[in-house]
Amino acid sequence: MARSLERRSFLGAAVAAPMPAQTQNASSTQANGPAAKYDVIVCGGGNSGVPTAVAAARAGAKVALFERYGFMGGNPVHALMTRWPRPAQWSGMLIEFMKRVDAFGVGPIPLNPDDNHVEPEVIKILFQEMALESGVDLYLHHLVVGAVKDGALVKAIVTESKSGRRTFGAKVFIDASGDGDLSYYAGAKYELERKNLQAMTLVFRVGYIDFVRFEKWAQQHQDLGNYYKQAQLINKRDAAGNNRQGVSFMGRMNSLWNQYRSKYPDLPDEPAYFNCHSLRPNEICINATRAYDLDPTNADDLTKAEVSTRKQAWAIWRFLKENVPGFERSVPTETGAQIGIRESRRIVGDYMLTLQDGAANRRFEDSVMTCWVALDLHEKKEYLVGKAKNLVQGGLVDFPYRCLHPKGVGGLMVVGRCGSSDHVLNSGGPRKMPIVFQMGQVAGTAAAMAIKKKTDPRRLSVKELQAELSRQGLKTSQGGFSSEDLKRL
Ligand SMILES: Cc1cc2nc3c(=O)[nH]c(=O)nc-3n(C[C@H](O)[C@H](O)[C@H](O)COP(=O)(O)OP(=O)(O)OC[C@H]3O[C@@H](n4cnc5c(N)ncnc54)[C@H](O)[C@@H]3O)c2cc1C
Repeated sequence: MARSLERRSFLGAAVAAPMPAQTQNASSTQANGPAAKYDVIVCGGGNSGVPTAVAAARAGAKVALFERYGFMGGNPVHALMTRWPRPAQWSGMLIEFMKRVDAFGVGPIPLNPDDNHVEPEVIKILFQEMALESGVDLYLHHLVVGAVKDGALVKAIVTESKSGRRTFGAKVFIDASGDGDLSYYAGAKYELERKNLQAMTLVFRVGYIDFVRFEKWAQQHQDLGNYYKQAQLINKRDAAGNNRQGVSFMGRMNSLWNQYRSKYPDLPDEPAYFNCHSLRPNEICINATRAYDLDPTNADDLTKAEVSTRKQAWAIWRFLKENVPGFERSVPTETGAQIGIRESRRIVGDYMLTLQDGAANRRFEDSVMTCWVALDLHEKKEYLVGKAKNLVQGGLVDFPYRCLHPKGVGGLMVVGRCGSSDHVLNSGGPRKMPIVFQMGQVAGTAAAMAIKKKTDPRRLSVKELQAELSRQGLKTSQGGFSSEDLKRL
């Protein structure tokens, strides 16, 4: 459901709407409409923004990337989300990135099909390396707070930082902010779930665990609920490159936590989803806290979400330490720099990819990449995963080029989890880290090609773009997969 600019907190209280001045008209003052210093400006240095910037720069564009934090990486770094699923579907620059991760020698080995996690600190340094190598100008500590438009065309962004308020012009802008901030400031239409928005989660690490005893306990507690993955020992690589034992465990804690709620009142409510895995020796990363009914684009709601999930994280650790073998000497080693956001604005593009498209494994002539179709929907009322409720058939769906263009706005493209797909399909495909990474490569390449051809990216020949993406090793549609690839789905 599309929402107007006037907003209310999900908790019911009225909240301040963002200043309408954030969309400015270029003709109003000269200072608001600077000359295009860059070919391409990317807003957001997460796992869609960095490949976008790198792809555009490699294709010859002069590129600037704006990121609000002092490092790049996005959700897989600031929110400690480490699982990059389905290596069989990876292609293009993503394979190059994963080879770099493997060669770096710290943490899991993502190209090993059983071990597709990436250590967040490795992403930080490798994203920085790739951006600098390709000649991207970095503007860290810059929050994008507005857009300057001339008619329907975006001409500049407005940023806030220690250096005050600044504007930067470019020929093409790419919104990779996760929340669709730039598109929103540019007046693009968007959808934001009210009732069924997916949970936000503060992920945290706990160290100094005796894995062998934890593993034994986990195996004995298979009656806890609905296990998607049995507790298992997997080999992980430690900082020195040695293989170590780690644990990967995913289940429901409902029955167990219900017995302990009076002692640990901040334990998360049902459905008590619990997912952990290790990236470092004797340490696990835990994805189990939940914040529902709060709007990630509202700073007051974000504050509530951070506060409540931090309490949950400490309650979970205390529960583990006092009740689960192997955790007696454990300590919390890190919480994410910010809460992880699964879903917020989804910008309405020239086409919006739907669950029906996914269920039909639809092919599109203007396909520029593929998405898998497997629900991963963390709603308050229930958690839908895989081919749940026969809503979808699984497999792949083509991703049309039209999804990258916010409807009615020129000079702007959108990538990442805020891209143009519906709530349910987005959960299990277009928001996933390997997919947003590949989306970035597509958009960056397209932006640079459009600039060379002196045209708006929307008017670029899709056939030429597809040919270029194939040359770069990207699988541009389901048809681009071999029968061997498809068997592995
Ligand atoms: C708890 C949790 C579990 C998940 N599990 C998985 C999983 O198992 N596998 C999987 O593949 N995916 C998973 N996801 C989804 C996935 O991590 C995200 O959807 C994906 O990382 C989104 O990438 P993005 O580049 O679109 O956005 P982000 O990663 O959020 O990056 C956006 C970047 O833009 C910056 N930014 C934002 N606003 C501004 C602004 N106004 N100005 C400047 N910079 C800005 C941010 O700091 C950030 O660096 C999970 C997500 C969560 C929260």
